[in-house]
Amino acid sequence: MVQKISRELFALVSESEGSNCFLLKGSRIAALIDPGTASNREQLLGLLKSAGLRQEDIRLILHTHGHADHFGADFLFPRAEVVMHKSDALAVNSRDADVSCSSFFLGVQFPEIKKFLSGKQIIDLGGIKLRVIETPGHTRGSVCFFEEKQGWLFSGDTLFVAGSGRADLPGGDAEALAESLFRLQKLKIALLLPGHGGILRGAEKNRQNVDLALSEM
Ligand SMILES: [Zn+2]
Ligand SMILES: [Zn+2]
Repeated sequence: MVQKISRELFALVSESEGSNCFLLKGSRIAALIDPGTASNREQLLGLLKSAGLRQEDIRLILHTHGHADHFGADFLFPRAEVVMHKSDALAVNSRDADVSCSSFFLGVQFPEIKKFLSGKQIIDLGGIKLRVIETPGHTRGSVCFFEEKQGWLFSGDTLFVAGSGRADLPGGDAEALAESLFRLQKLKIALLLPGHGGILRGAEKNRQNVDLALSEM
């Protein structure tokens, strides 16, 4: 289901087990966070349409981590530069089926990542500034993107509504995940936009949500 959250933020929230995708329409550049799998195609086109954009208007794809259910639709946006944390990107570039979990999906097309994300980096889309927060644990190269002014947290598979991501896949580390959640606990999150499942509005609810995830570690 496509949701217009603001003039600049559009969400494709999967109604099945699929991945969510977020579209950010900055004044300088339009970007997607985690396009998802190729089976998202029709819904992705709907997401673009609701923002008044075409596939070629997407110039940047930001990845929260290197799992195939998050990058499998990258090839639909040939003009976009694809960025990811180096710790996951090197595995994606070498088509590592274990680290990318690509064997869970049929016919995965791998992107080529030439530019890497690192902690504290600020990505300025024009009117939208995303801070990169390194949050290893679900994978080695997991990151979250935080728009401080709006309180938007794009949490990938690190934090969901009611729980955190798995730490038992290749590259996963439960201890590192707990440390990452502590890092997120310090943020003033007004809207949680995770890689799967629903989104969560409200500062108090988000505070409780991070506390809950930590208490389950
Ligand atoms: Zn994942
Ligand atoms: Zn995922």
